[in-house]
Amino acid sequence: MYLFRGLKEQVQSYLDESQVETIQQSYIFARDAHEGQLRSSGDPYITHPVAVAKILASLHLDAQTIMAALMHDVIEDCEVTREQISELFGDRVAMLVEGVSKLTQIKFRSRQEAQAENFQKMMMAMVEDLRVVLIKLADRLHNMRTLGALKTEKRVRIAKETMEIYAPIANRLGMFAIRRELEDLGFAAQYPMRCRVLKESVRKAAGNRKEIVTSVTQNIHSRLEAEGIDSEVDGREKSVFSIYQKMLEKTGVFKQVMDVYGFRVIADSEDNCYRILGQLHNLYRPVPGRFKDYIAIPKTNGYQSLHTTLKGPYGLHIEVQIRTSEMDNLAENGVAAHWIYKNSTDVNRAEVNAREWMSNLLELKKNTEDPLDFIENVKIDLFPDEVYLFTPNGSIIELPKNATPVDFAYAIHTDVGNSCIACKVDSKIVSLSSILINGQTVEIITAPGAKPNPGWLSFVATSKARTNIRHFIKNLRRDDAVDLGRRLLEKSLGNISLDSLGKEVIEKVKKETHKEKFDDILAEIGLGQTASVIIAHRLVPSVEDVIKTHDNSNRPLAIKGTEGMMIEYAKCCHPVPGDSIVGTINAAGGFILHRQDCNNISDHESKLDKYVPVQWEKDVEGTFRVELKVEVVNRHGVLAKVTNLIAEDGANIANINIDTKDGSTNQLSFLIEVKGRLQLANLIKRIRTLDFVLKVSRNR
Ligand code: MN
Repeated sequence: MYLFRGLKEQVQSYLDESQVETIQQSYIFARDAHEGQLRSSGDPYITHPVAVAKILASLHLDAQTIMAALMHDVIEDCEVTREQISELFGDRVAMLVEGVSKLTQIKFRSRQEAQAENFQKMMMAMVEDLRVVLIKLADRLHNMRTLGALKTEKRVRIAKETMEIYAPIANRLGMFAIRRELEDLGFAAQYPMRCRVLKESVRKAAGNRKEIVTSVTQNIHSRLEAEGIDSEVDGREKSVFSIYQKMLEKTGVFKQVMDVYGFRVIADSEDNCYRILGQLHNLYRPVPGRFKDYIAIPKTNGYQSLHTTLKGPYGLHIEVQIRTSEMDNLAENGVAAHWIYKNSTDVNRAEVNAREWMSNLLELKKNTEDPLDFIENVKIDLFPDEVYLFTPNGSIIELPKNATPVDFAYAIHTDVGNSCIACKVDSKIVSLSSILINGQTVEIITAPGAKPNPGWLSFVATSKARTNIRHFIKNLRRDDAVDLGRRLLEKSLGNISLDSLGKEVIEKVKKETHKEKFDDILAEIGLGQTASVIIAHRLVPSVEDVIKTHDNSNRPLAIKGTEGMMIEYAKCCHPVPGDSIVGTINAAGGFILHRQDCNNISDHESKLDKYVPVQWEKDVEGTFRVELKVEVVNRHGVLAKVTNLIAEDGANIANINIDTKDGSTNQLSFLIEVKGRLQLANLIKRIRTLDFVLKVSRNR
């Protein structure tokens, strides 16, 4: 009987004597039924149902739920029938026990697998009586807490099922406290190493954090006290799993995740929540775009709170949740909050929402004949952060929210991603960057030889796409380097074309330079690691004469503007298409373009060997940076007028600097992006027409 004592004390605190009595009877019934059975840990089996009942009692659930929790494994594990339970404890309790038993028989391997029927069974059991799921969640929570006694393989399977099925259900029902614990336990069981490392890092960071948390808590508290607002303030500790998730989502850098501090302020009325918000925005500067009013517009699971992010001391981000204690109880326990007051006027919004959701499920069940349709609809509800899409032949691809056709292409296969050029969504051509929506059928159009576009990195949502594009760019840079190296080498070879050289010559140079491929040599030239002149000399010893006598008219290297990282535009003179240019290789081996009249290369005419003649191609692509210095009369609104004019002209402004020369004049420096010399000349002309402009010049 001693096992029952703790539970008895719990239920006595909120149930009446006769209810406690029937609960005790159900305990005795379950204990006798499980007599002789042991858990993997070696404990008597009855300790498990008692622990499950205690979890539910801590949520103040009703007597029937507690009784069913105590007996939840007797049909499954002992030879007890539903009828026996019904006779002894009533039909309702028997139904709950049977419902939980049915759920226990359902094993989910993963949610990707189309186990439509199992899923449907589970949802239907839930719809029949919500309490079935509450018992099942408590059951799972206790099993997760005592997972250690199981074999690794079983432990991992249960952990995975918990993460993929039960935690999202707890979330949908608004039961965050249980969800959080399920996720942390599941994470620890699935990735023991990662979890251990993270926990250790959290422990190490704890010292510093404590100081900051204490000081911010005090600041908030004293401000609110001074304003006469009653409240409780506390610093929230992040769960290990939520840190891990944030790291996956964002930068992957532990410190950046830990630099965000969470606080919760509990107010005594809804009205005060908004007053507190006002005070906090006055105390610390709010971060724009981060305020959310879930009090006026609750989340689908009933969650209510105000969210805001503030710039705290040392520039740290402070995330604050403001809510009343009722909202807080609801946020932690969801549908299970206030269960006992069901007949009072205190409406539990989470429960109302859950019931609404369930009647929708029933409706849906009636209207969908195909269990697959049903499951897809339910999944959308349960996993709102995912989208489910179809391939033209009907397979389902699951992607995170905000995924694009490029993500979809990579999800099918890396090769499909690498060679995709266009996309049809529901038979219409759409842009590769458009955001996909649940239920769409997506067809990826590929072309042989097509290449991923580095620009895709700015919109892809999956790590698979990101990794593959990055990997490709790395190789692409090599292609760029090889291409540039070839052009530099041909330049150095003067009138001799590379293709006209004999195989033996190429082989000889490969051997001399210890390179396997000639492309490796070209790449090194392109990357500036080897001077093209040296290789040219190795290929054709007589080439020296060519180099010495060459001049600018002799096949200068053509610049297309698409060389990417292989060519750098000098920051002293900022050459743009149309300018006369000269190329040089710097000490670090990079290829740099200067304007011919740049002060830094005044020796270029006397030292031909140091410089490479270059010229612009006819049609150069891209935009180029130029530094403009504008001397103006120091007058109000001058800067705005010049920037407006530049913007009107379609040039991008990358940076602005203001120098006060003396009291009466200012020197404005603009770093702007233009297409070429013509656009720049026109822009300078227009700036000169402004009456307050004294001088406009380009830096060199
Ligand atoms: Mn159980």
